[in-house]
Amino acid sequence: MNYYILFGPPGAGKGTQAKKMVEKFHLKHVSTGDLLRTEMANKTELGLKAKTLIEAGDLVPDEVVVGMIKNVFAKNSDVKGFILDGFPRTIAQAEMLDKILEGMKKEITKVISLKIQDKTIGDRIKYRAEIEGRKDDADPETIQNRINTYHKQTEPLIGYYKNSGKYHEIEGEKSIDEVFESISKEIQ
Ligand code: AMP
Repeated sequence: MNYYILFGPPGAGKGTQAKKMVEKFHLKHVSTGDLLRTEMANKTELGLKAKTLIEAGDLVPDEVVVGMIKNVFAKNSDVKGFILDGFPRTIAQAEMLDKILEGMKKEITKVISLKIQDKTIGDRIKYRAEIEGRKDDADPETIQNRINTYHKQTEPLIGYYKNSGKYHEIEGEKSIDEVFESISKEIQ
């Protein structure tokens, strides 16, 4: 079983690339952001709690997303592998993920990191706001907070995964197809 982490700031193209990876490599796409948005749409207790944090551009608690990931692993034991998109986002989440995988005698296969500049993040999120209508994509203050949160809480994961020798960086400013070609080389 392969466990790929698709890493990068908001707007790096993780969702777009993950869809292409599913088509070509038949992996299971797991986006914690999508799972949380489903909870919000269904107005579950978890969704209602997460809404305020998501719409402010803050992270939801580690235990919440780790719980969701555990659930997905348990329900999908028959898949070829997973693409984790938007998870982990903190060192604590990464450590908990390592523990979960260790318990199953598995490990992270590779971390594929899409590198883009802050300016591109802003442009891409504004463009996505017009297409997907996400509330957290529409407000400039929320977008800035998400970028700050990325630098402060998520970027330290680069060092964490570099230490494990599993970190592979890809230039994310290129076209969708060019980025996908680089990702495909990492997977084959
Ligand atoms: P995304 O769709 O990945 O951009 O996620 C949208 C929002 O959901 C984020 O800005 C966070 O508020 C929340 N979220 C998604 N994944 C996580 C995670 N792994 N840890 C904490 N919060 C998350």
